Amino acid sequence: QTSIYPDVTLITPTAQMSPSMHGGRAKCLQRLIRLDMPVPTTLALSFAAVQRCAKGQLPPVESLLEPFGEMPLLSVRPSSQDPDWGGPGAILNIGMNAVSHRHLTKRVGEAAATALYLRFVQSYAVHVARLDPEVFDFPNLTGIHALHAALDTFEAEAEEPFPQDVGVQLSEVLRSMARAWDGTSARLLREAKGAPVDAGLGLVVQAMALGVGDGESGSGVIQYVNATTGQPQVVGRYLSQSQGRDALNDKAGAIYLTSDQRGPALEDICPDVFAQLLAYGWTARSRLREEMQIEFTLEDGVLHILDAVRVQRSSRAQVQIAVDLASDGIIPREEAVMRVPSNALSEMLHRQVDPAAVRDVIVRGIAASPGAATGRIVLTAAEAQASAARGEACVLVRRETTPEDIRGMHAAQAVLTMRGGITSHAAVIGRGLGVPCVVGASDLTIDRKRGQIVAPGGRRFAVGETITIDGTTGTVLAGSPQMLEATLDASFQTLLSWADDFRDIGVRANADTPADAQTASNFAAEGIGLCRTEHMFFEGDRLGVMREMIFAETADDRRAVLDRLLPMQRNDFAELFAIMQGRPVCIRLFDMPLHEFLPYDKAGQRDLAEQLAMPLTAVTDRVQALSEYNPMLGMRGVRQGIAIPEIYEMQARAIFEAVADVAARGLVVQPEIMIPLISAMREVELIKVRVDSVARAVQSEMGVTFAFKLGVMVETPRAALRAQDIVKHASFLSFGTNDLTQMTYGLSRDDAGRFMSTYVQQGVYEEDPFHTLDLDGVGELLAIGAARGRAGRPDVVVSICGEHGGTRAAIGFCRAQGFNYVSCSPFRVPLARLSAAQLAL
Ligand code: PEP
Ligand code: MG
Repeated sequence: QTSIYPDVTLITPTAQMSPSMHGGRAKCLQRLIRLDMPVPTTLALSFAAVQRCAKGQLPPVESLLEPFGEMPLLSVRPSSQDPDWGGPGAILNIGMNAVSHRHLTKRVGEAAATALYLRFVQSYAVHVARLDPEVFDFPNLTGIHALHAALDTFEAEAEEPFPQDVGVQLSEVLRSMARAWDGTSARLLREAKGAPVDAGLGLVVQAMALGVGDGESGSGVIQYVNATTGQPQVVGRYLSQSQGRDALNDKAGAIYLTSDQRGPALEDICPDVFAQLLAYGWTARSRLREEMQIEFTLEDGVLHILDAVRVQRSSRAQVQIAVDLASDGIIPREEAVMRVPSNALSEMLHRQVDPAAVRDVIVRGIAASPGAATGRIVLTAAEAQASAARGEACVLVRRETTPEDIRGMHAAQAVLTMRGGITSHAAVIGRGLGVPCVVGASDLTIDRKRGQIVAPGGRRFAVGETITIDGTTGTVLAGSPQMLEATLDASFQTLLSWADDFRDIGVRANADTPADAQTASNFAAEGIGLCRTEHMFFEGDRLGVMREMIFAETADDRRAVLDRLLPMQRNDFAELFAIMQGRPVCIRLFDMPLHEFLPYDKAGQRDLAEQLAMPLTAVTDRVQALSEYNPMLGMRGVRQGIAIPEIYEMQARAIFEAVADVAARGLVVQPEIMIPLISAMREVELIKVRVDSVARAVQSEMGVTFAFKLGVMVETPRAALRAQDIVKHASFLSFGTNDLTQMTYGLSRDDAGRFMSTYVQQGVYEEDPFHTLDLDGVGELLAIGAARGRAGRPDVVVSICGEHGGTRAAIGFCRAQGFNYVSCSPFRVPLARLSAAQLAL
């Protein structure tokens, strides 16, 4: 008979129990009992029973005490459904009173008996009777004197004697633990850990194994892996004459478990017990299919197993353990893939601020590019480069970054901006480079005169002072807190290779530079889904050439100037092709308003006039002429490609010549050319005619043949709506959800940061749509575009390459719509591979 009262169960191998009725701890204890481990007699109170206890309706105490025999000593522990949700602290030694004190004195000696009684009175007073803990501290009293003082104090404070009846003691403990679970702070705490509002609490009542007395008695904790690395290792502590988890708290008295040079170990004093613990560990691992930490007690040399919990672990250990369990055939590979949350991978890919470190937060912003880095404050890209040249780590702080800052961003360890959101220039480049980045820290100002940044509360940090950017949490910290290094070990690679076997959507990377491409390749991206070419025009002295081109009078003059860029672009592309060998590389033609190449301040314009040997007015006139009210909706992308065709012609030639060069070296190349900002079919047609003719020219000039694909970015609503038509001239459609979100909402991706947090706080938007793909609105355009595209050309390849591409929600959506692949920042590729597999399983 296991059910001793409705909802109260004596835990036996066959009792009807489940984590959702009795909690994880109770269910785990049953598993240990089934594995024949020496678990003391234990009762489980279900969630329903505990709920009634909170209302004062306790099960009859005689039936609770019956399984424990004469004069029991008991512990009560919480058992929530998910052990991570916590619960009230355990209470030990219930049943201690004057009579059991006398009895125990005979059995284990007066000192030990008194210590147990005192401990119980103290924890009962504080946790059950809710008396002030301070008055139960007796620093000058020991032994029986302290016990008497505790009993007297209890009587004085509670206005009744300390309860002597074990039934009363137990009932009160159950009632107070049940009610603690309903308290506001406990509820908030567990909800923060993901518990549902109605999460239940079970309780387990267990016969105490004493851990004090004659023979070898004591308690300890053992686990079989290292919590940081996940590698096999016996870790734990044992403390003679102790109870519960004392061994972990008393660093001085506790001893190690395995024998080595550090002093006496449990293995030396009790080799049989140690061997037994190793055997139990092995059984628990293989049968519970998890790495467990076991709490044990020795009573006169006899081993008791009191409890087992899942080993707390770092992200790195989480991956290692999952891979090891699957490699040992304990869990299937599918389950290993499912067990690792993608944020664990993200932590492994970047240095992190040590969770144990002290954090002095200066200001908060948007977490734009994960990882943490420390450096001295610099306020300009030039200072960042100078700093790098001196070998000094720096953090580039800007109001916002522009393409001109790119080299500074390369040189900096981290980037902080005051403006911009998740798709701002700083954020996109930061993620691409793997540089930690916090954007939109709008509470921060720059005091240029004094060379300081000013944080909320008036805290000032001067150029050269050290700060830390935590791009994972979006915080800026003073000084240099302790860091945890990134670790890409073999288990990480193994897990991802398993993930690849299960996923059914491709993963490519957005990569602009050879370094990006190398990262993408290291992370096994299946190709480049978006190579933005704009930054290439800022490298070395190319900016000067672009400016000359802008001032050229005729198309021929423009062509002549652009011819100087051609070999450089050819090199850029050849490098990408070589790195991505055989995998497709999708190059997006130039997409940037030309005025961004011109200096906006007078000094810069004067400088440029000097360089070009032109009157200043010619420069200012040009700047004026190119300036637009709404550049994001102006002369950019394909519009420029049609109005000033020489740039695209040069790029197409550079791509094809690079294809020919690399193919001549015996490498396989799969080039793809992508046209940005399409809104009409005729745009594609016009560009295609030109690109095809450049291809023919290069083939005949170089005496080679090659294949390439031409496709379009779908980043205007009209392109999605007209996809059936547009796809006539395009073999692939790639959704640029950054611009598509901007244009669907009519929301500037560069300015929305100013009110986005207000909007999200007030529930106008559930999330920042530049961060989390808006499935309802933008998603509908994706679905329409994909369907109409396929209607026009059944074999069209469909993908997403906006910043959303690496997020789980977007991957899920794209899978459901039958997309061929997603493309995301190189550092997100591993997460995307894992998420895609988890979604498919
Ligand atoms: C997009 O608009 O989603 C895109 C990928 O292009 P960009 O971010 O360069 O505008
Ligand atoms: Mg775009």
